[in-house]
Amino acid sequence: MTLRMRLQPEAIGSGMTSQRVRDRLVDRLRDNGIRDERVLNAIRTVPRHLFVDEALATRAYEDTALPIGHGQTISQPWVVAKMTEALLESEPKKVLEIGTGSGYQAAVLAALGLEVHTVERIGELLRTARKRFRQLGMNVRSKHDDGRIGWPENGPFDAIIVTAAAPALVDALTGQLAANGTLIAPVGGAGSQSLLKLSKDADGNVTQQTLAPVVFVPLLSGMVD
Ligand code: SAH
Repeated sequence: MTLRMRLQPEAIGSGMTSQRVRDRLVDRLRDNGIRDERVLNAIRTVPRHLFVDEALATRAYEDTALPIGHGQTISQPWVVAKMTEALLESEPKKVLEIGTGSGYQAAVLAALGLEVHTVERIGELLRTARKRFRQLGMNVRSKHDDGRIGWPENGPFDAIIVTAAAPALVDALTGQLAANGTLIAPVGGAGSQSLLKLSKDADGNVTQQTLAPVVFVPLLSGMVD
């Protein structure tokens, strides 16, 4: 499979961001149950160190969430892999992400050749993420908005991935999911969250499955600059 991105010298990395270090992360994800080689390949290739502050770049290939400012985090690689793997099961083409954050999850989806639409409520995070997409030659459609309304003009979507936790699934998002589509979202409060997978069949009936316990920042209302 060919991954869709442009690899410039800073994306190739060295030392703690080298290919060897990235391969070690991929081995660890495989040991922890990630099976889809397309996902492992995307994680091996997308330069996560370019999605965090330079001061944290040496920790970018640890399997851990890292701060990205504004009280937000770039998700743990295992969680990104698990969500992406679940989402690929229904072979989507057009995907909506809520919570762009650093842009890393969107970049992994774009590298897999998916048509990615992403929404972020914090303007400054979105501006930084857009620079990264441009730098990597990735075509990601993005919008500064409260993602709880989804992106109705661009829907329906074959898959939807929510990267911030709400107390319950958001109806507007379920509504923008196409028939035979998959929605992956963390649901729950600060103490206890689960990653849910909602599948819609050809008739629009939905079924739900719990994938794993997770820890996400909250899905908040409104927008900030
Ligand atoms: N997918 C991101 C994870 C970022 S953390 C990554 O790969 O880095 C979750 C993000 O969701 C934060 O940036 C936060 O600002 C954003 N968020 C929270 N509530 C939101 C909402 N209602 N609409 C859009 N984005 C939201």
